[in-house]
Amino acid sequence: MNTLIEKGVEYVMPFYVDVHGIPKTKTVPIDHFDRMMRGSELFTGAALDGLGQGPHDDELAVLPDPDRVMQLPWRPNVAIVPGQLMYHEQAYEMCSRSALAKQIDRAAKLGLKLNLGIECETYIVRLDPSAPNGIAPNDPRDNISKAAYDVSLTLINMEFLNDVVSSMNQLGWKVHSFDHEDANGQFEFDFTYADAMTMADRFVVWRLMMKELARKYGWEATMMAKPYADRTGSGAHFNMSLADAKTGENISGDASDTRGCGLSKRAYQFLGGLKKHAAAIVAVSCPTVNSYKRLIKTGSMTGYTWAPIFISYGGNNRTHMFRVPMLRPHIEGQQNSAAHENLSSARWECRAVDPCTNPYLAAAMFLAAGLDGIEQDLDPGDPQLLNMYELSDQELASRGISQLPQTLLDAITAFEKDDLGRRVMGDALFKSYIDLKKAEWWSYHQSISQWEVDHYLTKF
Ligand code: GLU
Ligand code: MG
Ligand code: MG
Repeated sequence: MNTLIEKGVEYVMPFYVDVHGIPKTKTVPIDHFDRMMRGSELFTGAALDGLGQGPHDDELAVLPDPDRVMQLPWRPNVAIVPGQLMYHEQAYEMCSRSALAKQIDRAAKLGLKLNLGIECETYIVRLDPSAPNGIAPNDPRDNISKAAYDVSLTLINMEFLNDVVSSMNQLGWKVHSFDHEDANGQFEFDFTYADAMTMADRFVVWRLMMKELARKYGWEATMMAKPYADRTGSGAHFNMSLADAKTGENISGDASDTRGCGLSKRAYQFLGGLKKHAAAIVAVSCPTVNSYKRLIKTGSMTGYTWAPIFISYGGNNRTHMFRVPMLRPHIEGQQNSAAHENLSSARWECRAVDPCTNPYLAAAMFLAAGLDGIEQDLDPGDPQLLNMYELSDQELASRGISQLPQTLLDAITAFEKDDLGRRVMGDALFKSYIDLKKAEWWSYHQSISQWEVDHYLTKF
């Protein structure tokens, strides 16, 4: 506590997330820090989505994780610390962070650890009631076609981007690059991977940081998966690798692999589990009605969307749900037959994740499915090395490739049928997730869009 006071911290926010992954807190003046770290802060669960509880229930407490106190670089008088929800001194079954902790323990018993890197994409916009859908570009100059990697569009936003990146680096996250993404006003930030829990905590704080910093400029950073119908969506690709729990060594790669992806047997088994449970997983990794409008192949003004539509995996191929980045050789001139970098960076990414996800529940679903794959020796089949956007229905059928759910209703139906969600979330959270997401779908379905009016009102 004294060190925090010396650093200028006046308030601490112990936080947990609701079922949507949105952080919730009670703010505590620094002189109550010790009490707060022992779990003094109490919450009425009934006030939040997906935490169960009725108005008659006792309160929930949050027990902060002492190793994860983060002073907010852009608001240095505030520190934030994630914690676990407790009920009557026991871990609370509907806590997202505990669901992930449970799978991390399960992995540890098998001698394994999941490392995670999240590619953070977001749109920076201005809220303007006179613009189409109320969304205007943050900068009027941001209107060139093929905005991907554009130097000028990066530079005109450099002051803001610097605020973000220097905040991320002050938190010790080690940003390795950031760029203007495919669509106008869209940016991506990439930073060093960490264990799954650390990365999930960071992702929650990153979203908060983006919103706060953008608002300083009068802008909004939106995590919505598809804010514009004619531009690519925002993903939050989960890059996963398995490590030995004791040594920390990456055990995902195998230079002698003959299947073409340079992965180890356990990595393929993990992928086997991910493929088996893919439809249920997306109900969590792509959690909104709008998420499914991102999972299409074209229709963007820049051409492809780079988002997946099938449950498939392959090499360095952006049309798959699971892409295995082809790793580059370290030594110049070295024969690059397998095209694999040193094995320490072997990994696979799931592209069917968007920034609206609750990262604790998503990581827990991925890890649980992957561990099932290892325990049950599941085979993901051979990698597909084709452009999945170009395959005909017949080719897809002959290769046994199935489509990802195309709506939130499809996804939640698949989630309900699979036992994975129940095992990951426990009965109460599983049921509450299904109820909430079905209600979200039906609320959407009961609205009438401009498209319907334009197409049907006078025609019929
Ligand atoms: N924005 C794309 C998506 O929706 C990803 C682009 C990329 O490969 O970085 O997933
Ligand atoms: Mg990207
Ligand atoms: Mg990626």
